[in-house]
Formats: sequence, C-alpha cells, structure tokens
Amino acid sequence: MRDQFGRQIRYLRISVTDRCNLRCTYCMPEEGLDWIPKPEMLSYEEIADIVRQMAAMGLGRVRITGGEPLIRRDLPRLIELLSAIGGIDDISLSTNAILLPRFADALKDAGVGRLNISLDTLRRDRFEEIARRPARRFDETMEGIAAAEAAGFDPIKINCVVMRGFNDDEVADFAAVTRDRPWHVRFIELMPVGRNLHLTDRFISADEVLRRIEAIEDLKPDAGPLGNGPAQYYRHPGAPGTVGVITPLSHNYCERCNRMRLTADGKLRTCLFGDHEVDLRGPLRDSGSIEASVEQALAGKPKRHYLQLGSASNSGGLLALSQVGG
Ligand code: SAM
Ligand code: SF4
Repeated sequence: MRDQFGRQIRYLRISVTDRCNLRCTYCMPEEGLDWIPKPEMLSYEEIADIVRQMAAMGLGRVRITGGEPLIRRDLPRLIELLSAIGGIDDISLSTNAILLPRFADALKDAGVGRLNISLDTLRRDRFEEIARRPARRFDETMEGIAAAEAAGFDPIKINCVVMRGFNDDEVADFAAVTRDRPWHVRFIELMPVGRNLHLTDRFISADEVLRRIEAIEDLKPDAGPLGNGPAQYYRHPGAPGTVGVITPLSHNYCERCNRMRLTADGKLRTCLFGDHEVDLRGPLRDSGSIEASVEQALAGKPKRHYLQLGSASNSGGLLALSQVGG
C-alpha cells in the first residue's frame, strides 16, 4: 500500500474501544466522553476481516489500542483471529497494564509480541492526581508490569507523558529504574486536543527532557529496543533498559509515517491529527469489500500534521486521543 506521496503503509493501529478504566488528565475528561454505541462498534470478526483484506494489500503490522483495550471482553480471542492471518508478522498492544495480571499469559499465547505500557509516575501518591482513579490502581499497574515481565514480554516499552509541575521531576527516577529492569521508557510530549487545552502551560518539550536526560551521568546514546519507531534512546552501560524521547509536536515524523488508524466504530484515519477519515464499517457490512475505501483513504493521507501547541484547531476534531488510540 502506498499513499499519494509514495510512503509505504504497512502498519495499522486498531482501537477496540473508546472507553477506559482510568481518566488520565491529559487524555480523557473526568466525566468521560459520549461513548460509541455498541451496535456501531466493529465486532472482532469484522476487525479480523478488515485486517485480512488489508494484509492482502500489503499490511504487515498491527497494534491494538483504545481507550483501554483490555476492558473489552476476551481480547485474547481477537489476537487469536489476527494471529491466524497470513502476512501479519507483528502484533503489539498498548495498555495501562491494570488488567495484565489477568491477561498477560493469554495475550502472549494468543500472539501478542510486544507491549507498550502507559506509566506517568513512579510515585503512588501522584497517581490519583494524574490518572484520577484511586491509588490502588497504581499498585495494580505495577502488578501488571510485573505480570508482563513474568509472561516473558521483551521489550516492554513504558510511555510517560511528561508534564511540567506534575511529573517532570521524575525523569532521573525513571532512568534509574532502567539500570535494573528491562524497561524502555519513552518520554512523550503532551499533544493538544479539544479537552486538554487547560494543560497547555504544562507542556514540556522533548528537547528540554533530552537535556535533563543528557545531564544524567553515564547515559550513552543507544539504538534502543527492537521496533523502536520514532524515538531517540540512551542507556546506562550494561543496563537492561533504556530511556528516550518521542517528539510528535516539536519535531514530527510525518515524512517517514507508515501508519493508519482504525477507530472502534470502523473509521480509517490516515493521520492522527488530520480530519481525513474514510468509513470502512458501511462498505464492510454492505458489500463485504473494503479495498476501494482503503485506496480512497490512502489517496487522501495528508503530507504531515499541523498540530500546534495551545490549539486544537488542527487536531482533526479530536477531543481526546482515547477516541483514536493515540
Ligand atoms: N489505554 C492505553 C494506554 O494508556 O496505553 C492505550 C490508549 S492511550 C490513548 C495510548 C497512548 O496515548 C498512551 O501512551 C497515552 O499516554 C498517550 N496519550 C493520550 N493522550 C495523550 C496526549 N494528549 N498527549 C500525548 N500522549 C497522549
Ligand atoms: Fe485511558 Fe490510556 Fe487515555 Fe489513560 S491514556 S485515560 S489509560 S486511554
């Protein structure tokens, strides 16, 4: 699959739900959003059908995300369906880890190769403020990460959205953890969308985070974990883990973009922050074929995103990243 600018597209991020068991301040409003009605959601069979048709067109990698994907019933069943599709050689999952003690082994057995886990603080007392759920959820998150390690997931990437005055004083603490544990911690810039503009003054650029990382003694530039995507990494000599930054806002990666996104209600979005989206659910339910709609989406994939700090006007109408999976 190639888009109108010749970029090869072989990666699909699939949101399986827009709901979540946390309310991270930068992501979802405390009262939640208008959830997608159940009949409008793609079934697991429909998702697998879409992936099967795209695999025939050249798709090779998928990532399952949300909302929180593990709150959707029996997610390992979807993974099994996707694992059986020829041509799909990489299945990964983004999760807040809370339900991993229950599902880590089943996900591994079903075919999830790699996990990205969100963790914005190492301090239990801060969790309630950032995730707006009781601190015991922090304990469950840590148990979830331990369960992922015990199930043999490697690498484990930890995504940390850095916000001034919330958690930006924890950069060195996260780096210290990577000396002993095989975590690949990626500090991510806060991205502005409709419901988080009140956090604009919390934005801290990846360059600033990089300066803090580079001030930590002994850290050396490193290639980072396999499947590292758009990130820059550093490692303590001999350490099992790394730290790095992802800079969607200050430096974008659009030139090398190889991805598309599928929302839980079957819209194919070719850019996280573009307003261009093509419905796949209608054609799938009407005629069974989505090929023409995928071609149409590829032809309209924008050259780059135009997101700007402090404004949601170029966010493609997004209220929260939980609506498309981040
Ligand atoms: N619930 C899962 C999780 O938290 O990993 C998957 C969905 S979440 C929307 C995917 C990623 O998007 C998480 O790493 C989260 O931190 C990130 N994210 C959400 N809103 C964001 C924002 N406004 N700016 C930067 N990253 C954001
Ligand atoms: Fe939920 Fe993930 Fe958004 Fe946090 S970042 S509210 S865990 S979807």
